[in-house]
Amino acid sequence: MSQNTNPQVVIAGAGPAGMLLAYQLVTNGVPVRVLERHPDFEREFRGELIQPAALGPLEKLGILPLLVERKLALPNIERRLFVGKTRRVMVPGGKERGSLISQAGLLQLLHELCGRHPHYRLDFGTTALQAIRENGRVVALKTRKEGAESRVEGDLFVDCTGRNSGLRRDLGLEVDSHQVPADVVWLRFDLSDVPEAMPDTLDVHMFGKGVVLVFSPTTRSRLQVAYSAPGDLGSLRKNLPELRSRLLPLLPEKLRPHLEAKLDERTETQFLRVIVDRLARWHVPGMLFLGDAAHTMSPSGGQGLNVALRDSYVAANHLLDAIRAGQPVDERVFQKIQDERLPEADLIQGMQKRVHRMVMAPMFVEHAMFTLLGLVLKLAKKDTQGATQGSPPVEMRYGVPVSQLP
Ligand SMILES: Cc1cc2nc3c(=O)[nH]c(=O)nc-3n(C[C@H](O)[C@H](O)[C@H](O)COP(=O)(O)OP(=O)(O)OC[C@H]3O[C@@H](n4cnc5c(N)ncnc54)[C@H](O)[C@@H]3O)c2cc1C
Repeated sequence: MSQNTNPQVVIAGAGPAGMLLAYQLVTNGVPVRVLERHPDFEREFRGELIQPAALGPLEKLGILPLLVERKLALPNIERRLFVGKTRRVMVPGGKERGSLISQAGLLQLLHELCGRHPHYRLDFGTTALQAIRENGRVVALKTRKEGAESRVEGDLFVDCTGRNSGLRRDLGLEVDSHQVPADVVWLRFDLSDVPEAMPDTLDVHMFGKGVVLVFSPTTRSRLQVAYSAPGDLGSLRKNLPELRSRLLPLLPEKLRPHLEAKLDERTETQFLRVIVDRLARWHVPGMLFLGDAAHTMSPSGGQGLNVALRDSYVAANHLLDAIRAGQPVDERVFQKIQDERLPEADLIQGMQKRVHRMVMAPMFVEHAMFTLLGLVLKLAKKDTQGATQGSPPVEMRYGVPVSQLP
């Protein structure tokens, strides 16, 4: 790495990991260029739950209050766990309350705040195709915008392109993957005409043999419903009669008439192949991997955003430490970031794999296992939901509050 005192950082991917890292670097005077393949932040919709462990820094920066003010965040949401429709079991880790945050809203706000600085640039509609290496070090990215290819130069590259990162594939990095037996069909309903039907908790219902349903209120009066089951859910998503016959009998009585009326070919749906994987090494010379690009999380437990945001706090700490000290931002710095983040990613992915195995059991076994797990974790005072167990709390050393921006 250059010993440049103010290296040009290129971040591929304007998701939560990429944009929060951009915010911390830009507000500390580091020039950043972000490349995003989509034309705006209205990407495919996502779950919106952010756990308390990642919220503290957003609160401290003044970002969470701004989102609440703009009605783009619903704070203080409890996550509840049920076996079947009604038998409530303890959420492993206890009753922490998270916030539901519009991803598009969060990313747009970070973009606006970064945009107050002349050394920030974001290129929408620009796909990072390939890492160009010279003498073994990444020195540029080959990109495509509107059919034309070009080359983006920089001193330091961060891959935040999320699951299925083409950059990491292209570099031939070693990936440890875990097969998950059930995928997810994600649906989104507009309940603005029936606000009384909108739940005020995020409820997970487990029906045995891999069938899980999640109901999540989200911002802008949208209700998200995730249906997870073994089998070909990619086809199920396109087969409306079959989807209705599987889903409707499982719905809670309060929601059923509304969703029955609204579930048709116009319903927004999305298929999610559930992946749990992790890079053996989160960096190559000149390039660091963060968020889902480094460790793709399952949606189980709503931890993907949490871990991606926490990656970016830790990465900013180490990158800015080195930059401010005039030291090279090299693989030694990248390895410190990996060393600090790996235990948490490992812990949470381990928990996700266990939960995926547990939900494959018949419902009565599932009930017994989750009751037992809840009790054991309560007795042991383990905190897994907040993602702090076994790893030190994450601090944000260089967070510049919104109130101090130009
Ligand atoms: C349907 C769905 C529901 C989910 N629900 C939840 C939930 O409720 N709670 C939770 O915590 N997590 C949830 N997750 C997981 C969570 O969204 C991810 O873990 C999290 O967004 C990871 O953040 P990231 O910044 O690493 O990657 P991403 O959010 O995936 O962002 C990657 C960005 O890179 C861009 N990109 C990709 N390839 C390129 C390229 N080659 N060049 C340029 N740009 C590129 C993408 O367009 C995207 O904007 C869900 C995921 C999905 C898919």
